[in-house]
Amino acid sequence: MKIKEDRCIGCGQCVIVCPVQAIQLINNKAVIDRDLCVECSVCLRSANCPSNAIKREKLRMPRLVRNPFSDVIATHKLTGVPGRGTEEMKTNDVTNRIRQNEIGFSIEIGRPGIGARLSVAEQFTIPLAKIGVEFESASPLTALLADDKGNLQEDLKNEHVLSAIIEFKVPYEKTTQILELIKKLDKEVDTVFSVGVISRFAENGEIPVMDLLNDKGFSVRPNAKINIGLGRA
Ligand code: SF4
Ligand code: SF4
Repeated sequence: MKIKEDRCIGCGQCVIVCPVQAIQLINNKAVIDRDLCVECSVCLRSANCPSNAIKREKLRMPRLVRNPFSDVIATHKLTGVPGRGTEEMKTNDVTNRIRQNEIGFSIEIGRPGIGARLSVAEQFTIPLAKIGVEFESASPLTALLADDKGNLQEDLKNEHVLSAIIEFKVPYEKTTQILELIKKLDKEVDTVFSVGVISRFAENGEIPVMDLLNDKGFSVRPNAKINIGLGRA
């Protein structure tokens, strides 16, 4: 995003709405810190700039990756998945990605007001690859991995995004290993992250993974998502 200095009247509206505090007023002109800016387009859409001074710039790689991880209405160019790439997990009841005896995980790094460098994702993806997880192929973050060892493409590591979601699944037997890794990384990772655990109900109506989560000291807030309208057979 760019601000046309000659048009800016220093009203400060864009400063207030920026979710990562990337805009400052300097000498009564709005100035964007390009390193912090996550290209979320919130200033363009929500500041209601009185002088039409905020302009979208044409983004190129590697900076281009900031936009789909930060802008809720952007579609990821690499995967074609809108909404930051959680579609497959959310629609599991029709896509059937996570089957009986498998557990899916989503680990979201960063959030509005904080953000995250993509290098943080690697703190998870490298040890996860060692455990042998199956990364979700339709997830934008998976598309940025350089190899099957969980390394990110080198030129992307310093890119700043609002949040990014690591999605993968494991056989049920490996669930404890994943939970122990998450507990360990909780002490090492220098940003916020939240964990989603996706499982199917067992035949008897129970959710087997709940006991494991409780044993490992996770605070669990169960919710179910069932699509009753359009779906894939
Ligand atoms: S909203 Fe527009 S005029 Fe107001 S500070 Fe931001 S760029 Fe300048
Ligand atoms: S695009 Fe988003 S992060 Fe960048 S300056 Fe505008 S509101 Fe802030």
